[in-house]
Amino acid sequence: MKITIHRGANEIGGTCIQISTEQTTILLDLGLPLSKNSKELDVAALTPDAVLISHPHQDHFGLIEALDQNIPVYMGELSKNLINATRMLLGNGLLKNELRHFKAWQPFAIGDFIITPYLVDHSAVDSYAFLIEAEGKRVFYSGDFRAHGRKSVLFDTITKNPPKDIDLLFMEGTMIQRCNDDFPTEAAVEKKIYETIKGQENITFLISSSQNIDRIVSAFRACKRAGKTLVLDIYTAWVLEQLKLISKNIPAMEWEQIKVKLSFGQHEKLKKNRDFFGDFRQRVYQHKISKEEMQANPAEYLFFSKMSHYKTINLHKKIKPVSVIYSQWLGYLSGSDSDYYGSEAIAGYQNDPQVNFVYAHTSGHATVEDLQTFAAALNPKILVPVHTEHGNLFNDFFENVIQLSDNFEFMI
Ligand SMILES: [Zn+2]
Repeated sequence: MKITIHRGANEIGGTCIQISTEQTTILLDLGLPLSKNSKELDVAALTPDAVLISHPHQDHFGLIEALDQNIPVYMGELSKNLINATRMLLGNGLLKNELRHFKAWQPFAIGDFIITPYLVDHSAVDSYAFLIEAEGKRVFYSGDFRAHGRKSVLFDTITKNPPKDIDLLFMEGTMIQRCNDDFPTEAAVEKKIYETIKGQENITFLISSSQNIDRIVSAFRACKRAGKTLVLDIYTAWVLEQLKLISKNIPAMEWEQIKVKLSFGQHEKLKKNRDFFGDFRQRVYQHKISKEEMQANPAEYLFFSKMSHYKTINLHKKIKPVSVIYSQWLGYLSGSDSDYYGSEAIAGYQNDPQVNFVYAHTSGHATVEDLQTFAAALNPKILVPVHTEHGNLFNDFFENVIQLSDNFEFMI
């Protein structure tokens, strides 16, 4: 088996790993880089037999559009729905790739390879690790994962009954030099949200990814306990529509204490794409809340959104400062190595007297301790760092580490 990390051996994001047998070549992820210093990847020059996407985060799937459209791309069905949801609301149209789906723990073949997807706990839903078998070798790719989210049972499932005889483990190391102690679990985030909104005298905005379902659940649970109403935008409401197919326990717009704030731009997208959105456009209308309704009783609401709308909703002129709960990685705000959209405006809230800026976030990635548990359970002959800026430190924490560089060909 021949292995080449095209990109991602020494950075977080932009992941693309190639594995080949004599007959077959596959790619694990084909992501957009997060770092400004990342090197270019010539996607047109890649001609694998198939691409496997571990989860619907841009830094893992974002370049599939540049791929020859005849090359099959495998991902979870929910992942496809979530990616297309974003694309349709941004006006980008559906994915044009030759998409195929796999199911958790159900092995399938691509040429010489037998692939088994393992559902994992991560800040994206429908996230997988892969066991990849061919030519008598067994490779495991962790994808992005953690052990402290609402689906932490998935971590226990793998570590208590790990795949055996792993020749090589690609393991992510996002958190090697990062600390998750302020909010070690999603429950700690929920508590902070609750404490922020329970006695509020004005509205609170919560800035997070609409695809971070754990976070939406935390926001809803905090609202329920504090007697507040959770306001979503159309995009988040549509994301939750997709989740109905897999669980009845995830909040949806029909639930009490949930409302949807319609925006002209997003509503126009629904109108233009009637076939795709079906009767959602009519149904979402039944759960709408207006700006005026929120202005009449601002202390009743928590508004979950990718961006804070506090300027547009114009509530800050009322009574007390609004609270803005920043519920994503703080590194996005430092601006040093990231192009995260809107980060400058959000960073500005920290010094805005009209804003009570609150931080509440737990990482989507495993802590060093959990990575150690994971690596020990899988006990690979070779452990290769990926999705990390600190592959050079892996030797301090794990056994059998071989650090590869991008583009280096390695045989097992
Ligand atoms: Zn991810």
